[in-house]
Amino acid sequence: MLRRLANSQALFNGFHKTIPSLFNLHSHNRHFSSPETQNNSTSSSFHEDNSVNPNEANEEPSLPSAKLSIDRSGLFNPPEHSHEPSSDSELVKHLKGIIKFRGGPISIAEYMEEVLTNPKDGYYMNRDVFGSGGDFITSPEVSQMFGEMIGVWAMCLWEQMGQPDNVNIVELGPGRGTLMADLLRGASKFEKFTKSLHIHMVECSPTLQKLQYKTLKCEDEDVSGSSGDKRTVSMFSGAPVSWHTTLEQVPSGLPTIIIAHEFFDALPIHQFQKASRGWSEKMVDVADDSSFRFVLLPQPTPAILSLMKRYKWAAKEDIAKLEQIEVCPKGMELTHTIAKRIGSDGGGALIIDYGLNKVVSDSLQAIRKHKFVDILDNPGSADLSAYVDFASIRHSAEEASENIAVYGPISQSQFLGLLGINFRVEALMQNCTDEQADLLMSGYWRLVGEGEAPFWEGPDDQTPIGMGTRYLAMAIVNKKQGAPAPFNESQD
Ligand code: SAH
Repeated sequence: MLRRLANSQALFNGFHKTIPSLFNLHSHNRHFSSPETQNNSTSSSFHEDNSVNPNEANEEPSLPSAKLSIDRSGLFNPPEHSHEPSSDSELVKHLKGIIKFRGGPISIAEYMEEVLTNPKDGYYMNRDVFGSGGDFITSPEVSQMFGEMIGVWAMCLWEQMGQPDNVNIVELGPGRGTLMADLLRGASKFEKFTKSLHIHMVECSPTLQKLQYKTLKCEDEDVSGSSGDKRTVSMFSGAPVSWHTTLEQVPSGLPTIIIAHEFFDALPIHQFQKASRGWSEKMVDVADDSSFRFVLLPQPTPAILSLMKRYKWAAKEDIAKLEQIEVCPKGMELTHTIAKRIGSDGGGALIIDYGLNKVVSDSLQAIRKHKFVDILDNPGSADLSAYVDFASIRHSAEEASENIAVYGPISQSQFLGLLGINFRVEALMQNCTDEQADLLMSGYWRLVGEGEAPFWEGPDDQTPIGMGTRYLAMAIVNKKQGAPAPFNESQD
């Protein structure tokens, strides 16, 4: 066992490598009730409090149903008097306004960016979209164990960094703030670690920033000796917390731990489709009946440069069979920023998302109320996301800095398993009610399982669906720290 895993081992009194062992140990037949309630992050620490937070249901939706109509007429003859029904939302009016003003369609990336993060009406900007009452559920909301295990990862890295007294811990797109809260609470016994942390939340949504402030139990306190200056601290550990809208705004100069969970999938992508004249960018236009529709643009667009770059990195045989390709220039740029920061300041980044370790073809999807919906239907009322191209992240990182090394991706199941989630779930199971045990086991399955939970005896439509192999974990670390846990243990 490596020394850097010593603390995580202490946390869970052991270290399991394989996930299935848990199900051999706990093959008892429980009736798993419907997990309705939210993860309210009740107080618990890795060691002192093994109490369980309730989890949430996640419906497994059907396949996307977006229609693709390829029609170039709208490009050259935009409707002169586009009829705008009064029921159009402000965002829809805004999007149609851009298209009309330009006299032509916008890229899917621009559409996605406006839909998700338009400062006034973007999907994320004014509401809490997570959980069973929202549109989709994420791993930190499924189980407290997720944030706790990320805490183990961060602490292992901090040990590899030589236990520095001051560390920036940055979360990109923290949602409700649940992951960071569970991380801090879980690590609370390790004061030297928690006292070193300067928390930076990179979040574009003012509404979610406020929610994160609450979740982290933040308070504003006067800075001693200065007139009227305040700083915000989290009552979980006394760590200072600040908010930014981009990673560039986070002050540099300290070793840095970056966490990006389900962040890259929200970055805007461009789609290209193979046509007789070569790759053509798929765009969003307004049809004569005033609805949105997809069109192909015959002439090259600026995004072709990102496509050419992605092409260079891809295996020819992978590209040859594709009819469509997605590229994410914003993801490439962000990876550059991450790699440069980690390369100069030290530390590492952990990226967990659903995606592929190769070129992504056609993955853009819209989710509303836990169901897939048409991408163009009532934009702003559904989440848009795309598979993350991990191979592209690797190449972008390696291109940006010689001081970093990239590890993975490995499956989330492997990542959490190697970090010891089996011991964590077993510890929690020792000290909980039957109802909590049901929630714990279904949450555990959602995090590390694959497909339908074999132990489920409740209603079919509530069967927990495992996302352990659909989600992948990748680390970008400064070379001077060596291979990070648990990538140093994985077979991949
Ligand atoms: N990591 C969280 C939330 C994932 S959803 C979880 O796993 O639960 C994506 C998050 O990223 C939201 O908080 C959203 O507001 C934020 N976000 C999306 N695009 C962003 C951007 N361009 N800049 C900053 N934050 C962004």
